[in-house]
Amino acid sequence: MSVPRFWRNLDSRYNLEGTHCTECGEYFYPPRKTCVNCRRLGQIEAYRFKGTGEIVTYTVIRTAAEGFEEQAPYALAIIKLDEGPSLTAQVVGSPEKVHIGMRVSSVFRKLGEGGDRGMIYYGTKFIPADA
Ligand code: ZN
Repeated sequence: MSVPRFWRNLDSRYNLEGTHCTECGEYFYPPRKTCVNCRRLGQIEAYRFKGTGEIVTYTVIRTAAEGFEEQAPYALAIIKLDEGPSLTAQVVGSPEKVHIGMRVSSVFRKLGEGGDRGMIYYGTKFIPADA
């Protein structure tokens, strides 16, 4: 993988980069190159999401996958961004405090550590918006 592509990929995860159709106003995350509404007539541009939204639903993960053990239990939520798209992400903090409809905002945090090679993954998580 070339260096510029590597950084582009990082950018998308770190900053909630998506796309926006200026023709119909729809937002896409993950980014799409064509608009599902306008097809070829759509005008797609890069868009950086504000990172604010609310929790649509969530589940509490008590038995975490390898590399995430130290973080369990934690809430894994479907978050609807204010611009429209939904995504799945971890909510930082005590899962007891998480509720449907809760306002959240994105933060950049360590996601986990990968076994053998000791790699550390970073990406977007969410925190309560009033925190
Ligand atoms: Zn469109």
